[in-house]
Order: sequence, then structure tokens, then C-alpha cells
Amino acid sequence: MTQDSLIRRTPWPESASRPLGTPIQPSVVYASPDPDTLDAQYSGDQPGYTYAREGHPNADVLARKIDGLERAEGGLVLGSGMAAVTAAMMGVLKAGDHVLGGDQLYGRSLRLLGQDLPRFGIATTLADFTDIAAVEAALRPETRMILLEIVSNPTLRVADLPAIARLARDRGILLALDNTFTTPRAIRPFEHGADIVIHSVTKILAGHSDATLGYVAAKDATIRRAIYDFAVTTGLTPSPFDCWLAERGLFSFELRYDRAEENAAALAEHLSGLPGVKRVLYPTRRDHPDHNRAAALLGARGGHMVSFEIAGGRGAANRLTRGAPNIAFAPTLGDIGTTLSHPASSSHRGLTAEGRAALGISEGFFRVSVGVEEIGLLKEEFSAAIEAAREA
Ligand SMILES: *Cc1c(COP(=O)(O)O)cnc(C)c1O
Repeated sequence: MTQDSLIRRTPWPESASRPLGTPIQPSVVYASPDPDTLDAQYSGDQPGYTYAREGHPNADVLARKIDGLERAEGGLVLGSGMAAVTAAMMGVLKAGDHVLGGDQLYGRSLRLLGQDLPRFGIATTLADFTDIAAVEAALRPETRMILLEIVSNPTLRVADLPAIARLARDRGILLALDNTFTTPRAIRPFEHGADIVIHSVTKILAGHSDATLGYVAAKDATIRRAIYDFAVTTGLTPSPFDCWLAERGLFSFELRYDRAEENAAALAEHLSGLPGVKRVLYPTRRDHPDHNRAAALLGARGGHMVSFEIAGGRGAANRLTRGAPNIAFAPTLGDIGTTLSHPASSSHRGLTAEGRAALGISEGFFRVSVGVEEIGLLKEEFSAAIEAAREA
């Protein structure tokens, strides 16, 4: 072969049959036949791709699937959940605007609001989203957006979404809702007044801890365009391979979610009966502080997250994770297998001990992302781990 024929792209082999699996298209760039066609593509008169940062087929295949779950239109898949949060805010807000966020948002969202947005002249405040009076008191004439997660991390408090959505609508404030914990299996935020819906696809949507991705969709086409342009300009593009993995994960999303939720409810009940467990938090349990609101908003959909607290300090916490060798102690959620996280040493390590205490997060506080294991095995594993934690 000559060098020339090595460089030239080989045409894809013809096949009368079509592949069942989704092809992966890693091409960065697309060749158009002539400038007229390229022009028409850029102006949207002809379909097709030009340059992968601006969009590629694997991202679109995945986005259309999540659009279907959320009953959204024109959602965008980005390189991470935080890319989606960032694009939703920075693509829309400007200096002088004010943003209100929940005081138990995802850790990096708290950082974005607390440290990054203020550097660009965007003022931010956090409030307890279970307390509508506190939310109303925190609003300002220049409040442009509210960032909300329905079920909070890690104490699983349930936000007063109906009241917050009403306030936002009455005052013309955009309501951005991060639906990562609840997922469209439990609730579709656009049906509850949200203007923007965000996901960390990394979590239970993709579900196998092997792809880092985000999703953002906006109801209004102008806002959608602003978010898209910001994401493309700042390069928040997802990898085609990650999109392909996530699409594969989504095939089983509803099965995994339902099984994990069933396991979570059963595990919460089991934990509540174990000696050494001080409290168990699960939204649909009668002893949960927001259980009426959870029932009204989510029905029986308590989700796949359970939190609990044991007596004792860091020593007991160390014994607990070591006593559960089959449960990954890892700061994530939504994996097909159960994972355990310890907010005091991970997501909430940046807070002072007093700050953590105010949220009810002690050294004995754990958050469980429940997976699809056989429930009997899970119960045994947790019984043994909590027993191990008790041995001083
Ligand atoms: C993980 C997570 C994020 C961030 O997603 P990444 O994909 O890790 O960037 C945002 N919000 C919530 C609620 C999350 O759990």
C-alpha cells in the first residue's frame, strides 16, 4: 500500500442488514460536499454534524432517550453532571443577578454558588427548602433563578416543591431542578413547574460507574439555545464512548431503579431494628420528618437512597466500612451495586463540625446508595457491619 491509500478513509463495508447495537461515532469532524451544504448545516436548514464539540450522534441518541423519560424537548448531554449545572446557570445568568439554592445541594453545586458565581458578580443565598417562609424571605427583586434538589443530600429531606414552584412562577424566577436523586421514575419536574431539568447521568441513569455525563433540558427555546451556546463555547462536550455506555446503561434503568428502591425500603426497615442504629432516614417511612410531603409528591417512590446514624465517632465509622467487605465504600451513588458513603469524611468534609452538626451529620452518619443485590445478602452484610462497629 502507498502512504496515500493508508491516509484515505476506507468506506464502511456495505451490509444489507443493520446492526442492532448503536454504533459509536468518535469522529471529531464531518466532511460536507460543498460550501452551500456546510452553510445550510450551520444555519440549521440541513441536518447533520460539523464538529464534535458542537454536537455528535452518540450524545444526541442519549439525549433523545432522556428527553423521553423527562417528557422534554431538545435536552443536551454534557461531559458531567456539574457541566450541566454550570451550563444551566452560567449560560443564563449575568452579573447583578441573584440565585437562591437549597442548603443541602450536591457539594460541588454548593461550591459553584458559594465561591464561583460570586466571582462573576452573581450573588447567591442558600435556604432550607423544606421551609417556604425561609425561601420567601431569601428572595430578592433581582433573584433570577432557584436551584433545587427535591430530596436532599445526605439527610434526604424533601423540598416543598409545590410552594417553591408557585413562588417562582408568581415572581418570574426560573426554577432549575436537579433530578439526579429522584429521577423521572419518581417525578417529572417539568410537570411540577420546573423551567430547567438537570441530571448527573453518571449516577443511576447510566448506573454502572463507568461513564461521567450530565444532561440539561429547558422548557423555553431561547434558554435552551443560551445553555447550548455556553456549553459549546466552554467545551463541556461529552465523549461519544461515554454516551454509548450510558445509553447501554439506560436500557435497564427502570428495572434497576425499581429493584433498588424496593431494596432500599426493605433495608431501611431492617436497619431500624438493629441495635446500635440511632436513626434511619428514608422519605416514605412514617418517622421521616417530611413523610407527608414525600407521599404527596413522590407517592410510594421513596428512591434508592437510605441514610442512617450509628453511635460512636470515627473509630466506629472505620469499623463499619471495614466490616462490610462486599459493599464499596465510595463517594458516589446510583451504581448497580450498593455503595456506602460517609459525608463527614467526603462530601461534607469542608464544613466545620458545628456546620455538620447543624445538618445532623455526625461521624456516625452514613448514606447508602442501594443496589440490586439479593436483599437477604444486603441485610446480612449490614447486620455484620453494624455489629462490627459496636465492638470497641
Ligand atoms: C453527582 C451529582 C452531581 C454532579 O454530577 P457529576 O456527573 O459527578 O459531575 C450533581 N448533582 C447531584 C445531585 C449529584 O448527585
